Amino acid sequence: MTAELQALRDTAREFVRREVAPYLQDWEDAGSVPRELHLAAAKQGLLGVSFPEEVGGQGGGLLDSVTMQEAFFEAGASSGLMAALFTGGIALPHIAANGSPDLVDRFVRPTLAGEKIGSLAVTEPGGGSDVAGIRTTARREGDEYVVNGTKTFITSGIRADFVTTAVRTGGQGHAGISLLVIEKGTPGFAVDRALTKMGWHCSDTAELSFVDVRVPATHLVGEENTGFVQIAEQFVVERIGLAVHAYGIADRSLALAADYCRHRETFGKPLIANQVVRHKLVEMRRQVEVARTYTRAVAARHEEGENVIAEACLAKQTAVDCASYVCDQAVQLHGGAGYLHGTEVERHYRDARILPIGGGANEVLADLAARLLGYAS
Ligand SMILES: Cc1cc2nc3c(=O)[nH]c(=O)nc-3n(C[C@H](O)[C@H](O)[C@H](O)COP(=O)(O)OP(=O)(O)OC[C@H]3O[C@@H](n4cnc5c(N)ncnc54)[C@H](O)[C@@H]3O)c2cc1C
Repeated sequence: MTAELQALRDTAREFVRREVAPYLQDWEDAGSVPRELHLAAAKQGLLGVSFPEEVGGQGGGLLDSVTMQEAFFEAGASSGLMAALFTGGIALPHIAANGSPDLVDRFVRPTLAGEKIGSLAVTEPGGGSDVAGIRTTARREGDEYVVNGTKTFITSGIRADFVTTAVRTGGQGHAGISLLVIEKGTPGFAVDRALTKMGWHCSDTAELSFVDVRVPATHLVGEENTGFVQIAEQFVVERIGLAVHAYGIADRSLALAADYCRHRETFGKPLIANQVVRHKLVEMRRQVEVARTYTRAVAARHEEGENVIAEACLAKQTAVDCASYVCDQAVQLHGGAGYLHGTEVERHYRDARILPIGGGANEVLADLAARLLGYAS
């Protein structure tokens, strides 16, 4: 841990204690986080971590982002809060890496400054796992694309000012997909529905529709029909990020459970005086340590330029298995209190359930890893 990383960790922890923790339950109940939070996070230099300075970021690499996210969870942020506040982490990287200077100026910089909110729209009602099968079309007409289709489960889609949208510009399969930036307010683009969910309550989620939406051709990100490759490249970082969500909420749930077990008495003694309880806490700790250590190792290899597509799948699976077990046991150790709305471990338990599905379902990642590791027929 360098002095710079330690300072980043301290800033993030302090930010959560001051700007997030006191209000999080209200945002959970309201179903979204306020725009002012984005501005406040940007002011602290937190929104742009790991984005290059040339596009308005703070610089640094994936390990900086991992360190910052760990600090957020340690101080009590939820997985839903992170999804809502850092949606730029999935909406912007393609534009930052391959977009024109104009797209960078209009969408990346203001989002990293907390002034705009962006979403990434890949998933459609017909399916999210099979990215190569998307059906939303973008037909070129002169200097414009005409977009038709529907996207669903889009994080921050209610609040977003723009959406980095996967569209079909070419033939069937992965080679016919492009990325287009579509602005809210463009005629024919509508937020059809706000989706209510089991968890991630403070993260708004939308269904979006596009009916003959005319988008300037200059909003194409990178070359036409390179969208699938761009999406796949960013999946590694997204999956490592979701792994951090998983062991982050698990570690926080463990800390809360251990504290509870020290103070809660049953049969005339603290819960922690029971060997079976202590062993459970140690098992929770073991799973968190393994998930954190492996995920950090994969993130470090990614920073060094190694291809870690398979390892990112393994890290996400390891961490979400850890979260499923640890968050469940944290509720168990809290007894009835753990089942109550507003108890923090209850929130992490519900939030954990999206992690084996979003950003690539466990089964799909296992299949991808099997192919990459040479276990396919
Ligand atoms: C809260 C939330 C936020 C989200 N945010 C976004 C977002 O911002 N942008 C975006 O584009 N998408 C987003 N998603 C979509 C998410 O990425 C998809 O839900 C996910 O990719 C799975 O797609 P699906 O739901 O269509 O499930 P399907 O593809 O229909 O799969 C259903 C289930 O079938 C199993 N399965 C699928 N394929 C296989 C296979 N080949 N072999 C074995 N089993 C298989 C898995 O268990 C999977 O969970 C979000 C989803 C949620 C719930």
